Amino acid sequence: MTQRDWIEKDFYRELGVASGASQDEIKKAYRKLARELHPDANPGDAKAEARFKSVSEAYGVLSDEQKRREYDETRALFAGGGGFPGGGSFSGGFPGGFSGGGGQTFDMGDLFGQTGGAGPGLGDLLGGIFGGAGRGTTRSSATRTQRGADVESELRLDFTQAVRGAEVPIRLSAPGRCQSCGGSGARPGTAPRRCPTCDGRGLVSRNEGAFAFSEPCPDCRGTGRLIDDPCPECGGDGVSTRTRSLTVRIPAGVEDGQRIKLAGQGEPGRGGAPAGDLYVKVHVTPHRLFGRSKDNPDDLTVTIPVTYPELVLGSTITVPTLDDPVTLRIAPGTASGRTLRVRGRGVQRRDGTAGNLLVTVSVAVPQRLDDAAQKALDDYAEATKSFDPRAELLGGAGR
Ligand SMILES: [Zn+2]
Ligand SMILES: [Zn+2]
Repeated sequence: MTQRDWIEKDFYRELGVASGASQDEIKKAYRKLARELHPDANPGDAKAEARFKSVSEAYGVLSDEQKRREYDETRALFAGGGGFPGGGSFSGGFPGGFSGGGGQTFDMGDLFGQTGGAGPGLGDLLGGIFGGAGRGTTRSSATRTQRGADVESELRLDFTQAVRGAEVPIRLSAPGRCQSCGGSGARPGTAPRRCPTCDGRGLVSRNEGAFAFSEPCPDCRGTGRLIDDPCPECGGDGVSTRTRSLTVRIPAGVEDGQRIKLAGQGEPGRGGAPAGDLYVKVHVTPHRLFGRSKDNPDDLTVTIPVTYPELVLGSTITVPTLDDPVTLRIAPGTASGRTLRVRGRGVQRRDGTAGNLLVTVSVAVPQRLDDAAQKALDDYAEATKSFDPRAELLGGAGR
C-alpha cells in the first residue's frame, strides 16, 4: 500500500464509522462486516470478496493507532484525493503537519507522481521546492509497468519456401513468466510474504531536516515482498527461459535478410503492460538453378544453355520452372546472352499478381567434336567467311 492509496481511499466510509470513532467502535464495525463479507459466507461472489479485502485493508490501518494518525494527517493535507488544500501556497512551507519531526513517512515519489491528476504546474512546483530530490528514485518497482522487450530470432528457408511462402514451425527460447511459480518467485505452494521493514510498501522513510523522504526498502529492494523459499525453476526472479513452439507464416516472395514481425510474441510485459514483438530474420539458401532478379525480386532468373544451331535456326526448348517445365520458343537469329520472358512464372503473390521467369540463353560450346562434326563445321566456316562479327568494331576504332 502506498501513500497515494491513503489519499484516494476513505477507510472510515469503508467501515461505516465516523472519523472520530473509538478503537472499540472500529473493531465492532469491522467484525460485523468481516462476518457478512467473508468469502466462506459468499462463495463465488467477487464483489463481496473485493469488499472484504477493502474492509480488511481499512481495518489494518485504522486499528493501528500510529498508522491511523498518519492516515488522518495525510488525508487532511491532501484532502480531496490529491489536491492541495486551498490551492496551496508553498512559499511558506507545507501547511500543518508536514514539517516532519514526528516520524511521518510521506511517500514523496508517489506524491510527485500525482501531477497528472492535480493539475498542470504542480509537478514543476514540487520539483522546484524539492530540487527533484527523490523524484524517480522512490517509485516502487512493484507499481511500475513496462512493455516487454522485443525479441530477435533467425530462420533458414530454402529458396522455394521463400518464393512460395510457407508456414514454418520454430522453437524459441526466450524469457517469460515462470510457469512453475506463476511469476511470484516463491516455491510453488508457498507465497512471498509482506516485507516487515517497509510493511509491503517497498519504501522506507529517511529524515532529512524538516522532511521525511522515501527511498527503496533495502531489505526487499523495493518490491515490498520477501521470498523465504525461492522457486527452484526461476531462482526467485519469477522469470524463466522457456522454449516455445510457434508457427511463422512466411509471405510469398520474402527475401534474404528480411525480418518478419510477429506482434506480441516477444517478452511478456511487466505489471500488465503489453508484450514486446518477435522479429524473425530470414536467411534464404540459394537455389542450384534459380535466382531473384535484382531489378524486381518478384522475377526469378535462370540461365539455360543452348546450342549454336538452336539460336541460328530457331527452336522450341523445354525450360524448368519452380513448377512444371514450360516450352519456350527461340526465334531464328537469337543472340547468345539474350533474356526471354516466361510470363507469370515468378513469385506468385497472394493478391494475385505474379512475377516472370527471366530465361537467359547461353551458347554451350562442345569441348570435342567427332570427325563428321569437325568436317561440317569446317565447311560451315568456309561458307560464312564473309561474315565478320568484328568488322564494325575494328572499323569504328580506326576511324
Ligand atoms: Zn521492504
Ligand atoms: Zn519460478
